[in-house]
Amino acid sequence: MAINIKKLREMEGKAVAVDEIYHVAAPEQLFVVRGDVWVQGQAVHRKRSIFLDVRIRATAVQQCSRCLADVVSPLDWEEHLEFQPEEDGNLLEREAFTYSLEDTELSLQPYLVGLISGMLDPKPLCRPDCKGLCPVCGHDRNVGECGCAQNHRGDPRLQILKELLT
Ligand SMILES: [Zn+2]
Ligand SMILES: [Zn+2]
Repeated sequence: MAINIKKLREMEGKAVAVDEIYHVAAPEQLFVVRGDVWVQGQAVHRKRSIFLDVRIRATAVQQCSRCLADVVSPLDWEEHLEFQPEEDGNLLEREAFTYSLEDTELSLQPYLVGLISGMLDPKPLCRPDCKGLCPVCGHDRNVGECGCAQNHRGDPRLQILKELLT
């Protein structure tokens, strides 16, 4: 699925409806996109640029930065994007949205991972007070205490250290 550039040129200056469904496979260490990504709105070709005003809906699943539990984020936001022809010497701007004048279709596919990750918290939490995992035994401390903290207090090596310091 993609946006028909030829049709946009023929309709110069007039809005053309955009209604697309994408499947996004994000690099798993960042996040996973659950289900389809919906892109709806309109596109306009003006001079040499293609302007998109779209609403994007997607569901992203990340791992809690403390306990690794799933953090599910339903996303629904609007993007206003300008795509310029690659030939306009904007190749230096790697982040720029570009299309080739030889292309017949404009696809958002290469940009969706970046757009979605821009909407996500880089250090997500499953809940604001997540207690995380025990660094000693890996136990999920949201479920209950594992006892490592108590054992630490009674660690004989720590006891010696304490004696040395006093
Ligand atoms: Zn958590
Ligand atoms: Zn523990």
